[in-house]
Formats: sequence, C-alpha cells, structure tokens
Amino acid sequence: MSTEFYGMIQQLMLQSAELLDVPKRFKLILSEPKNELSLNFPVRMDDGEYRLFKGFRVQHNNVLGPYKGGMRYHADVDINHLKSLAAIMTMKCALVQIPFGGAKGGVQVDTYQLSQDENMRLTRRFISALADNIGPDYDIPAPDVGTNAQTMAWMADTYVNLHQVSRRLGGQSVVTGKPLVYGGSHGREKATGQGLVYVLEKVLTEYGLAFQGLKFTLQGYGNVGSWVGRLLVERGAVLQAVMDHTGIIHADAGIDPNALALHVQTTGGVAGFKEVDTVSEDEFYQIKTDLFVPAALEQFIDLPRAKRLNCRLIAEAANAPLTPEAEEFLLNKGINILPAVLCNVGGVTVSYFEWKQNRQAEQWLAKEVDAELQRYIHSAVDRVKATAQNCRIDLRQAAYVTAIEHLFRVYSIRGIFP
Ligand code: NAD
Repeated sequence: MSTEFYGMIQQLMLQSAELLDVPKRFKLILSEPKNELSLNFPVRMDDGEYRLFKGFRVQHNNVLGPYKGGMRYHADVDINHLKSLAAIMTMKCALVQIPFGGAKGGVQVDTYQLSQDENMRLTRRFISALADNIGPDYDIPAPDVGTNAQTMAWMADTYVNLHQVSRRLGGQSVVTGKPLVYGGSHGREKATGQGLVYVLEKVLTEYGLAFQGLKFTLQGYGNVGSWVGRLLVERGAVLQAVMDHTGIIHADAGIDPNALALHVQTTGGVAGFKEVDTVSEDEFYQIKTDLFVPAALEQFIDLPRAKRLNCRLIAEAANAPLTPEAEEFLLNKGINILPAVLCNVGGVTVSYFEWKQNRQAEQWLAKEVDAELQRYIHSAVDRVKATAQNCRIDLRQAAYVTAIEHLFRVYSIRGIFP
C-alpha cells in the first residue's frame, strides 16, 4: 500500500509540474527526497529486557528553509509511507508560503503497548540516534499520529542536552508542538483543526452551507479530529457521529464534543461514551450529513467506503485520506472535496509561529496566534481558488500547482548548485 501511496503523491506533483511547464531538472529534484535516514536502536523495556526499534527520518526538500515535519509512532510506519508524507509537507509549506521544507519521520511501534517510561526512553534514544540530523536551523520535528506535546518536550530536552545548547537562546526550537511552559505556542494544539475551520469560513457559503446548523460526521477523534469537533460545534454546527479505532458513536441531536474529548483522554477512545447510540461501520458512512471530515489515517476511504458516503462536502483533515478511485467516484457524484494539503496546513503554520516565538524569546497572545493563522489560511485559500479558476482544475490539483509554482520561483532565482 505504501509504495502505491508514494507513487500517487509523486504523480500528483509531477502532473502539477507539467501543467506549469517547468523544466525537467526541477521535476527530477521533486521526484525523490533529498535524504532518507533509517535507524535501528535498542531500548530497555520495563521488564529489564532490550528491544530493537526501527526509526526513520525523511527530508524531502529544503529550498525554502529548514526541513519541517511530524514524527509518527505507529506499527505501520515505513520508509515509503514517510516519503509520501514528507513530500506532502513540502507542498504544504510552499502553499502557505512559510520558510520551511518538507520532512517526516517516525518509529515502528504500537504506543498502546508502551508504558510512559518506555515511551520516554524510546523517544530519547531515537533523538540521540538522529543526533546531528535534526536542529533548529536544519530539521524541526513536530507531533503526528502517536506523538504529542509530551513527546516533543522529551525530544527537545534530549537534543538540548546532547548539543549543550541549554543556555543558548531558543535551543528548544528544534521541535514544535511543545507544552506551553516549555516554549510551546498558544493555539498550537488546536491549530490543525482551527486551520480547517478558517478554510471553511472562506468557502462554506459557496456550497450553500453555513456553520449554524451544519451537520457533520468525524472519522478520528485524536488531536485533529477532536479540535475540529469542538471548534465547529462552538460555531453552531451539530456533531452527528464519530468513528475511531475503538468504536462508532451516533446521536442525531448532536454529541457534546468537550465531554467526548475528556472521555477519550481518560479511556483512550470514543467507545463507552454515554447517552449516544452505537452504529455499524456501514451505517456510519451512510449517515446523511452536510460535511464529512476524515481525521484518522491516510488512504482510509477506499472505493467501497466512498460509495456509501452520503454527504455534500468533504474537508480532509487527515493527510490524503481518499484513494484515487474513491476521489474520482466522489467528484463524479458531485461531492465537493476540500484537499488536505490546504485543510490541514494550520498545524505547520502555527509550528512556524512557535519557532519564531522561541527564536525571538517571545510569547504571543492566543488571539494574536489566531489572527495570524487566519490571515495565512485565508490568503492560501484565495491563491488556490485563483489557480483552480485560471487553470480550470479541481482544488487538490490547484493546491499542488500553487505550491509548485512558489517552489519553482525560488529555484529559478537560486539556481541549482554548483
Ligand atoms: P492522533 O493519533 O491524535 O489521532 C488519530 C485518530 O485516528 C484517533 O482518533 C484514532 O482512534 C483514529 N484511528 C486510528 N486508526 C483507526 C481506525 N482503524 N479506524 C478509525 N479510526 C482510527 O493523530 P492526529 O495528530 O489527530 O492526526 C490525524 C491525521 O491528521 C493524520 O493523517 C495526520 O498526519 C494528520 N495531521 C496531523 C497534524 C497535527 O498537527 N497533529 C497536522 C496535519 C495533519
């Protein structure tokens, strides 16, 4: 699956480059990552035994600035999957025009099987193995599936100790998504969900929809999904159903997203949440709704699942949640799709704000972060819409074309060394 996924992302980038008629050398550069690191490292488990873990870091492109991208802890992590996600990060940073390139990394591990101490030892050993291959000016990790603010604090602390930068300004800017007390930014935790809401703010009316009374269903109630849930309900929308790895819950009158977030925090999933019905996977996809937000994992919505969907609009919170066949079917059916490369760019944008704050020894107010994020997202939406109109292409292709055009402008000015 991961080889096909990588092929799909490569194809999307190359097709977009063709539309712009850029020189072949530029397409060659984009077609593969600059660096692919693969590491095996031992970790002492709580029972005193040692286990060998496999970790990776893929650095796709750094023409705009330091590499930037999440660290994923998941049993299915592999190099091809991370290559795809690193390339997507290059597209996102270029689309929103922040001075970062694309990267992605992670460890092949099921975090549900680790104790907190084992997770900490694994994280510290992974970062010491990566050593000089990350840095505040070189490659800046962030949270992704299976990692969170605590993981980022361990990563930053390990890096700072290894490199003796603790007394130097901004050493902790080696990672973003940190806890607020250790150089994190207001608004980072909700940033990806907030970005998606700012995208909707610009486009909902075009689809004859409004926040007030908007019915929506969510797949995934982790960092991204739970914030999308809370922020949309805050604006008057109704959360009808949620699916995660533990179960599926449904309530026509609406699910309380704050109580659900608390429940997930304490129990690990949506299963067992009170005062809701449970429905089957088939029933979940068939719920008649205005908006479906996939916020779980990549390539989850295949053709059979797409055929069951009964929504008017899809806003992709997860990276590339639709297979190409599912996307083609949905577009032909007249269902509008807001692509992930635009919808989930809020996370990396506020990561950029966090990095800036660390380096200037500042802490912005929450409302300043929100206002700046809104400005970046609205202007990215305008650029994508203009490209879609000018080139008569769909929004996903338009987002890639817009990103590649920006990268190409920078390459044209910088030239290719030597
Ligand atoms: P997370 O680990 O916090 O949450 C993942 C969610 O997916 C959980 O609710 C989990 O139950 C659900 N899930 C996993 N397997 C499932 C299954 N088989 N069926 C149904 N649900 C399942 O991760 P996250 O940070 O919220 O990331 C979600 C997606 O958003 C990923 O594609 C990630 O790359 C993308 N993303 C995250 C960020 C960020 O800032 N965290 C930024 C941009 C994109």
